[in-house]
Amino acid sequence: MTGIDSLRNVLELERRKGYTDKAVIGGLDKYLHKQAGQIRQSLVLSLNQVKPKEVIPQLLSGFDELNLARSNYGSYGVDERKRWMANVFGWLDKLEKTARTKSSQEPVASSQESVISSRESVISSQKRREGLDSPITVIKGITPTVANKFAKLNVRTLGDLLYFFPRRYVDYSRIKPVSELIEGEEQTIIGTIWQARVATLGNRRGTEAIVGDETGNIRVVWFNQPYLAKSFRTNARVVISGTVGLFKGHKVFESPEWELLKDKELIHTGRLVPVYPLTQGLYPRQVRKWTKETVDGYLWQLDDFLPPEIKIRCQLLDLPAAIAQIHYPDKLTMAERARRRLSFDELFLLQLGVLARKRDWKEGQPGNAFHIDQEVISRFLGCLPFTLTRAQERVLQEILTDLKQAKAMSRLLQGEVGSGKTVIATLALLIAAANGYQGALMAPTEVLAEQHYTNICGYLSQVGTQEPGSEPGEGTVRSYTAEHPSHGCSVSRPLTIALLIGSLSNNEKERLHDKIKQGKVDIIVGTHALIQKEVEFKKLGLAVIDEQHRFGVLQRSALRQKGFNPHVLVMTATPIPRTMALTLYGDLDLSVIDELPPGRQVVKTKCLEPQYREKAYTFLQREVSNGRQAFIICPLIEESEVLEAKAAKTEYERLSREVFPGLKLGLLHGQMPGNEKEEVMRNFRAGELDILVSTSVVEVGIDVPRASVMMVEGAERFGLSQLHQFRGRVGRDKEQGYCLLIPEKLSPEARERLLLMEKVHDGFVLAEKDLEIRGPGEFFGTHQSGLPDLKLAKLTDLHSLELARQEAITLFQSDPNLKKAEHQPLRQQLGQVWAGGAEWS
Ligand code: ADP
Ligand code: MG
Repeated sequence: MTGIDSLRNVLELERRKGYTDKAVIGGLDKYLHKQAGQIRQSLVLSLNQVKPKEVIPQLLSGFDELNLARSNYGSYGVDERKRWMANVFGWLDKLEKTARTKSSQEPVASSQESVISSRESVISSQKRREGLDSPITVIKGITPTVANKFAKLNVRTLGDLLYFFPRRYVDYSRIKPVSELIEGEEQTIIGTIWQARVATLGNRRGTEAIVGDETGNIRVVWFNQPYLAKSFRTNARVVISGTVGLFKGHKVFESPEWELLKDKELIHTGRLVPVYPLTQGLYPRQVRKWTKETVDGYLWQLDDFLPPEIKIRCQLLDLPAAIAQIHYPDKLTMAERARRRLSFDELFLLQLGVLARKRDWKEGQPGNAFHIDQEVISRFLGCLPFTLTRAQERVLQEILTDLKQAKAMSRLLQGEVGSGKTVIATLALLIAAANGYQGALMAPTEVLAEQHYTNICGYLSQVGTQEPGSEPGEGTVRSYTAEHPSHGCSVSRPLTIALLIGSLSNNEKERLHDKIKQGKVDIIVGTHALIQKEVEFKKLGLAVIDEQHRFGVLQRSALRQKGFNPHVLVMTATPIPRTMALTLYGDLDLSVIDELPPGRQVVKTKCLEPQYREKAYTFLQREVSNGRQAFIICPLIEESEVLEAKAAKTEYERLSREVFPGLKLGLLHGQMPGNEKEEVMRNFRAGELDILVSTSVVEVGIDVPRASVMMVEGAERFGLSQLHQFRGRVGRDKEQGYCLLIPEKLSPEARERLLLMEKVHDGFVLAEKDLEIRGPGEFFGTHQSGLPDLKLAKLTDLHSLELARQEAITLFQSDPNLKKAEHQPLRQQLGQVWAGGAEWS
């Protein structure tokens, strides 16, 4: 392989000449620019004969990183030239090392020309046969006890360990002569141990060593580790990486990373050193040793499941190279490329799974085609005290088009608080009923279910007349009779609407279950109680799910299974960027109500420092005396509804006694029995209460037309989207609404976040900010999504998300069932990733 050999010769000559750029006539750059292409070609040829294949891309990309075709050697000073040269030689050495150690099991290649072909590869000599699903205990040193600790980090198999990624890297790649060490920086030296001993440091025993190179010596100490002294034999070569400090005016390394220089690749020093997430009883040095051993010994077994054309199009590293580089990167840019490849995998598999789910749902299962009776629709719309907005009209048409199909609808309806989703859902439910099917609406809380129930009854009672005999508010079943059939309405029988919630008595529940089973209820509104196994529908044709982010894929699926492929409409007030919506709810089609009913004003929002709370109270008082009502939200207490309820109670008592003795206050929290909650809400809505003190349970959906002030205590604890939901509770009438945010502690970040609330009134913008700041985990509630875990990828990285989605769609179009032979590894990987909790079976 003349290319590489002559490159080495030229560079060696240049080095001997003292980096004076005299090795080749016309300068090194000119030679390199001209030869780089050819060197690469001969490299590729000879690399082809290297086994195992996975080292090839790494070597090649290492070569490409050198960028010889655009070298700039001539313009450098001597120091820079030395560094540049060391870098190139580093790569050449690696190449040689690979070439020198080719596996003896491989047939000897015929080409004598190649330096690589006749030798053995380091990696294949370490090639180990245990499968990637073997327990990590096959690695020497990983005892069952250690394995238990790894299990806490969800690492059980060798494959898991390959995918156990470092959190970050420490840069110990800057190797310096001892004389040039600078205080306070992370640096590395390579030297000889002149002396090492157990020493008393402060008042504890530790290890002290003197390490030197040709430029000088430095003291190195390790606190509390006297046993290290034994590892350091005089005259041994050692690499020390760490921060240089000063002790009594002398430079010293304090408890640095260290590594004896043997014939092995450095893993703790002298390079970018990975920092892994640890748990009690796992130590960084051990973990690095084990990940290195796993990468070296088992990486060859990893199949690259991505089709080559995708890798080329998206400029992605090969999988083995990416795994190798994310653990032990040659440089930060390589770590970044590795990260890019691996996070692409996550998003791509996510998208493929989501697309498959959507396909299975749509094609696998015929749905019930509804007849759309324009009469029913016009009658309903005609009875509303308003006309639909254009956005509502459009979304309604999208839904109606779906309902007419003999395929089950699967649609996400997104729209700001108050944009009028419920009316649309009600109309869809009415159509289901008109077709002789049952419709169900599931809400995340009882309060919301109750409110939906009231609203739906309200809307439908406009259409019909209330059946005498059932007490509104008291019972769980109310019936409405549609207008007389002769008026052309096809709903010619009384419609029965029922509320099914957990807090009903067993008796009531059973009675209701029976009615639902017998088809005596047309529209059932409820909470999770709807998806209990006791609930059997006679003929469920449409399931509406409100506030989707509270429910996971699994619950959605459970509700679907209640019917014979019912149409499904999911409603959410949480604005999610489109691409992300398509990922998280990729099995759903998307409809957006992007317009509020006319006449809505923005809620004036003000963030007040805690010391101005009194002013806020005065303001509340004034609004109340003008006939308005107010909410006061108590701070969020993570993880504990009980504590939150307690705090709300205390605050309620304080406010009633000390601040608003003359007003009527109510209390609402998640620990109250359902009927009490309902009563408080009903009283508040009816104007019998002036101020409602509440926990975050009022977050979603509750309508109180006369409420004009929303005061939020501990505002910095809530996400922006949640605050936006709160403020959507007021100003629903013609009157101006106000939102007062009172943080407990106002850090600069909190201030910046809360000030956004004053300026921004677009839920989408706030949601995006929220995602940026808090990440999708908190945004959606961590493990509810039912989607595969993302370790590296961020759903907030819309650009990557879009790329992965496009590729997934392209692939899906060409091979929807992943039947092609070349897609088998991908298919297998997909099965693994989506194994738990997927509903597409
Ligand atoms: P969402 O469920 O999207 O938060 P709702 O359906 O509860 O919104 O509607 C909020 C309020 O606006 C309700 O009082 C509803 O009657 C009213 N509303 C809905 N659509 C319109 C419209 N097109 N014009 C005026 N008011 C409307
Ligand atoms: Mg709503």
